Order: sequence, then structure tokens, then C-alpha cells
Amino acid sequence: MSNSYVLVINSGSSSLKFAVIDPDTGDAVISGLGECFGLPEAEISWKYHGEKTEEAIPAGGDHHQYAFTRIVKLLDSLELSDKFVAVGHRVVAGGESFKGTVRVTEDVVTEIENLAELAPLHNKANADGIRAAMEVFPSLPQFAIFDTAFHQTMPAKAFMYALPSKVYDEYKVRRYGAHGTSHYFVSREAAKVLGKPAFECNLITVHLGNGASITAVKNGESVDTSMGLTPLAGLAMGTRCGDLDPSVIEFLIRKGWDNDTIFNTLNKQSGLLGLSDKTSDMRGLIEALEQGDKAAQLAFDVFTYRVAKYIGSYLVSVGEGLNAIVFTGGIGENSLPVRKAVLDYLKVFGFVEDEQANEAARFGRSGQIAQSELLGAVALVIPTNEELVIAQDCVNLL
Ligand code: ADP
Repeated sequence: MSNSYVLVINSGSSSLKFAVIDPDTGDAVISGLGECFGLPEAEISWKYHGEKTEEAIPAGGDHHQYAFTRIVKLLDSLELSDKFVAVGHRVVAGGESFKGTVRVTEDVVTEIENLAELAPLHNKANADGIRAAMEVFPSLPQFAIFDTAFHQTMPAKAFMYALPSKVYDEYKVRRYGAHGTSHYFVSREAAKVLGKPAFECNLITVHLGNGASITAVKNGESVDTSMGLTPLAGLAMGTRCGDLDPSVIEFLIRKGWDNDTIFNTLNKQSGLLGLSDKTSDMRGLIEALEQGDKAAQLAFDVFTYRVAKYIGSYLVSVGEGLNAIVFTGGIGENSLPVRKAVLDYLKVFGFVEDEQANEAARFGRSGQIAQSELLGAVALVIPTNEELVIAQDCVNLL
């Protein structure tokens, strides 16, 4: 264990995740999560030496601020703070301004705030987290790592919407994608598994968590991805609708729905939650469908069908020589029924499931779960580790 750690912070709209990472090994010395901010059930929990501690956050006041202060106190009491060499902040939207990780300056924070239009639920919270950390750790270098950066290699044919060109020229409305840190990490891990240099790998990386996205990776670079201007596009997600005919919005406006209601519905009341009318959580959804809940079954079917449809279309984006499809994220790493359903659709491309391997590759274990002789490709499960990428980026830039 080294004596230099990176504090990784992921400040969300109603949550605050943190981890103290050893950049040499990728191990988390401590990791934790403040969640349900603004609600009576708000709490903060952390795992240290395998032991989990939970604490309620008192009602009222600013829960972000409370959680941040509590985390700093905790890290001080564990004598970790004086071992930090940097603070790395996950930021969702970097627009075209940030093509890689940058050291935080006042200008950088201001630009992150300016880009809040692109990720309304996230960027403001990200910037608040950075400001809070700068105040507490004024002498530590801070870095911003952008979810969009990995996708800045997409060609214009993939990132442009078929709108009048002035919409892009004036407002920079285009596809930016997200989850880039995760797609980057698993693409590099897949290269190791395949025994090839990353720049020779052609992959389809499938990140399925509460948010979900798919990326076509050609010669190690992102060439297309399912999220768009914001993380709302693409797959059906826990609470987000994903792809939608834009006319639906106009239709709802004509029915009298206002902007906030529509925004809230598409982002927070749709996806698995909206379709099932029950839960945004895949585990709960599967329990419900196993008990014969038809709405839960439909939500599962919409989710898995769309994942498979995107994979099919990204065979075109990757072109000849696909090496692997890579499943990751909470659902991609753990949910056997989801992977089975997707692999079932992929039989058309010659994929044959290795049932035992699929069963085994869960709960943090990697594995090769299917193979297609037709494509000369395999399907892999690789647990993601965004915190490690963040920590290593910080150390590399130092
Ligand atoms: P986030 O996008 O918030 O980081 P995660 O990557 O942690 O989300 O993924 C959360 C999702 O993973 C939830 O839908 C959860 O139900 C699902 N998940 C986690 N463990 C399992 C499991 N054992 N089986 C099925 N789904 C799981």
C-alpha cells in the first residue's frame, strides 16, 4: 500500500460519492456515498476495511454541504487527508471545451458551470463539489475528469444531428455522449484480455447501470455512442426514457404539459420506473417479473431489446473486425437475465452463450461469456473502475 492517495469525488444532483484511491493498485482505501439529499431518508454511508457504516443526515439545511463536511471530518479522523496528493472530480459534461482531464482553475470551474445546459442535472452539482473541495483543500491540486472526453474522437457523421447547421454553429447542439471514463476503462481492460494493443481493438462497450449507454470503439477510439447532447438519449435507463420521437414533446406541450413537467418526466419518471410503475432498480424489476408482473416484464423487454438493437447497429459503426462486446456497469456486471436476453437476440450474429461462464462472471468477476464464430468475436464481462481512471489521470498530470 502506498502513502499517496487521490480523493475522488463525484458530486451528483442528489448524491455525493467519494473514494480514497491508491493510484498504484486502484484499491479503494475507503469509499462512500451520501444519497437521497433533500429527502427525509437522506443518509451517508461508507465502507472502510470491509465494514459498512451508515448515518442519517439530519432533516433541513443543505445536504450536500452537510455530507461534504462529514466526509472531510471522517477522512481527518482516519488520518487520510494528509496523504492526499490530489483531488479528482468526475464531471459529466465537458462539451467541446474539454477533450481530456484538466487541472482545475477558476476559469475551468466557470466553464463547467457554463456547460450546465448540456447536463442540467449534473454539471452544477459537479461544480459545487469542486468549489467545496477547493475551499477545504486549498493547497491540493484538483483535476476535472470529463465523462464526455473519450467521445471527442467521434466523427462529425456520428455527432451531428440532422438539424439546420446553424443549430450547431450557434449553440453547439450535437451528440457529446457520456460515461466516457467507463467506456475508456473497459476498452483498455478488454485489450489486455484480448492480448492486443488498445489501438488495434474494435469493441462495442455496453455500460448498463442506472444510467446506461453503448459505445462503438474502433481502433481504441470512440466512434459513436448512444447518449446525445445530454445523458437522456439512447437506451431506456432506470428513470430516463432514452430515444424518443421529438414530436412526443411537442404533443405533450399541446396537451398543456409545461417544460418542467416534461423534463422531470423524461429524466426521472420514465425508463424502467415509468414502464413498470414500480421500480427503477433492475433487481427489483426482475423479482417482480418473476412473480408474473406484466408491466415489469414489459420494462425488462424494452430495456434488453433496445440494448441488442444498439449493439446490432454499432456493428456498422465498428465495421469489419469486431473483437468483443463488453458488458459493464451494475446491471451489465451482475444481471444474468439481462445478459441472457441480450445474447439471445445476438444469436443472429452467431453468438453462442457459454452458460457456465455467464453464471460465473458476476459480482466483480470478469469472464468471457459468449463467442461468435461468424464475427470472430467474443462477449466479455469486465467490471468498470471509473475511480481508478480518475486517480491515475490525476497522478499522470501531476
Ligand atoms: P449507477 O449508474 O448509479 O452507478 P450502477 O452501475 O451501480 O448504477 O448500477 C445500478 C443498477 O445495477 C441497478 O439497476 C441495480 O439493480 C443493478 N444491479 C446491481 N446488482 C445487481 C444484481 N446482482 N442483479 C441485477 N441487477 C443488479
